[in-house]
Amino acid sequence: MTSKYIFIVGGVMSSVGKGVAAAAIGKILQSKGYKVANIKADMYVNIDAGTIRPAEHGEVFVGEDGIEADQDLGNYERFTDQVCTADNYITTGQVYQEIIRRERNLEFGGEDVEVVPDIPNEIIRRIKQCQKKNKAEIVIIEIGGTVGEYQVLLFLEAARMMKAHDAANVFTIMVSYLPTPILLGEQKSKPTQYAIRTLNSAGIQPDFILCRADKPVTPDIKRTISTVCSLPKERIISAPDVYSIYDIPVNFEKENFGEVILRALGLKARKKDMRDWKKLAGKIKKIKKEVTIGIVGKYFNFKSCKDTYISVIESINHASWHFNFKPKVVWLEAEKYEQNKKNLKELDRVAGIIVPGGFGQRGSEGMILAAEYARKNKMPYFGLCLGMQILTISFARNVLGLKEADSTEFNPKTKHPVISTMEEQKNNIQEKNYGATMRLGAYEARLAKDSLAFKAYQQQKISERHRHRYEFNNAYRKLLAEAGMRIAGINQPGDLVEIIEIIDHPWMVGVQFHPEFTSRPLRPNPLFRDFVRAAIKRQASKK
Ligand code: GLN
Repeated sequence: MTSKYIFIVGGVMSSVGKGVAAAAIGKILQSKGYKVANIKADMYVNIDAGTIRPAEHGEVFVGEDGIEADQDLGNYERFTDQVCTADNYITTGQVYQEIIRRERNLEFGGEDVEVVPDIPNEIIRRIKQCQKKNKAEIVIIEIGGTVGEYQVLLFLEAARMMKAHDAANVFTIMVSYLPTPILLGEQKSKPTQYAIRTLNSAGIQPDFILCRADKPVTPDIKRTISTVCSLPKERIISAPDVYSIYDIPVNFEKENFGEVILRALGLKARKKDMRDWKKLAGKIKKIKKEVTIGIVGKYFNFKSCKDTYISVIESINHASWHFNFKPKVVWLEAEKYEQNKKNLKELDRVAGIIVPGGFGQRGSEGMILAAEYARKNKMPYFGLCLGMQILTISFARNVLGLKEADSTEFNPKTKHPVISTMEEQKNNIQEKNYGATMRLGAYEARLAKDSLAFKAYQQQKISERHRHRYEFNNAYRKLLAEAGMRIAGINQPGDLVEIIEIIDHPWMVGVQFHPEFTSRPLRPNPLFRDFVRAAIKRQASKK
């Protein structure tokens, strides 16, 4: 079949769940038997998300091939279980960089290079390349931001140009927001009407309007939007707030959204396959038992951004649901422990702690103290990337007695660099060559048969995604192992330590990778699963 393209654009305001909607649409079309691919188009001039501050812009999601991307790629992977790579991510920066590269190589054959059509053409080329590489029958392209923003225009122009050449196969969904002002107590559709007008002025008439609101859209409002925006009522879809994001595809199905889209695309459902997903979404709502998990970190700027640790949170969710528990996540500010060690007592409130990824010295001493507290108190500990390095330092200081043990990231002159950089990274740092130069993407690890990791994965060869510049220093391997640290996973040919475990402890594991990127709602990451199991066990034993 000829591939179909669905653009998803935002109206009225951002942060209303456009990414999750795009992921959920991918999920329902996939469940009807179609091969889908999701793309995120970001307006940033940044080449990728690797240099963006997570506390303001949300987590940097790492693809299998090492692309450092917007967190929405995480939503796509969690919903459609399809691996994302650089092909699934487009930024303004990438597009301009490629056009300028071609111009410098004389590839425009002496013609002048114009913003229009050359920039939209490059956007279209990238979209089609993603279709080809994924052999996708339906490509869903989420355009970041909202219509009317200056920086969105060239992406809208790409959508318009595609539609102009291929009207039967290109579609647009506007995700809009319907506010309910407290004083009025009723939903208002006027902002949506204006947003549609703005989209129209870019030459695009949407094929569907997805109405985000706290409550389902009333029939009256549907009628108004239908009349003013020239769309049949069945194409105005209600998308109210839900208990969990995994309800969204189920809700869409209640509105028959999948069928309505397929009909518009001229396609028929090949199968129906959302049973397991529906079961999970239903189960989540009924769970009563709680397990309390602490996250010891520092990027807790939740006023402006609540998505800094989104994949970690989702992984904890998946793992807890697996055991019919719901997690209660407690945010623990690492710096508090540096100010006063007595504050560590608050760790007694939680059943297990996670030290997630992070960069720079701030907070690291507090995390090191928390790791030691967890080791002494036999509290389940899971270190993700930075958290593994923290565990190494803490163990070297407290068990080996190397009081000055540190990472060269925190103290370049440390006497005992138990975490340090490889040669090539030293050059990168010296030359300030920071973009996309970390150890990135999927690497294999071979697991020790007697390890907790092997017990979790039930196989010896695993592959997980990385994003870091510093590594476990092999010069200290023997010493640490003799003191009771199990080297549980190694990457060959580099002989890099990927997993460490503390032997005299119920569950204390640090991984140099980011297992949170491969957890799926119906298939929790094995290490998260076993960490949560250990936390549940500890919680029960303390009652
Ligand atoms: N800052 C550490 C490094 O670069 C850890 C990175 C991370 O946690 N992603 O190695």
